[in-house]
Amino acid sequence: MPNLSWAELVRNVHERAGFLCEYCQTSQLITGQAMHVDHIDPYGEDILENLCLSCGNCNLSKARATTAIDPETNKPVLLFNPRSDTWSDHFEWIQQGTILRGLTPSGRATIVRLKINQERVVNAHALWVFSGLHPPS
Ligand SMILES: [Zn+2]
Repeated sequence: MPNLSWAELVRNVHERAGFLCEYCQTSQLITGQAMHVDHIDPYGEDILENLCLSCGNCNLSKARATTAIDPETNKPVLLFNPRSDTWSDHFEWIQQGTILRGLTPSGRATIVRLKINQERVVNAHALWVFSGLHPPS
């Protein structure tokens, strides 16, 4: 693949993700906030295989982490990787789509590290669910 400019990479990452955070499924359409382009491996290359779309909450909480503690086992595990893992294998929406539940050690650790179920986000989820805009189908 030819080298893409950063602007081309950003556009490709947004389109590939459907403008949804690849960790928590927050929609750019709903929030109106600019999404971030996350480096899955923070020391990796600027290539599509190492990039994912992330909301600000997830990206700023993840920072440079690639591992986190699974709250069930208290052991470190790899964070969910949107390029190599399948979202629905690791996560499911519960409580009418307001709370994200981890189905695997990686899913649970990612939810904790990225603070996906923090109160203000859950409150926003409730409004989005009420509006029929969340969770994405
Ligand atoms: Zn997110």
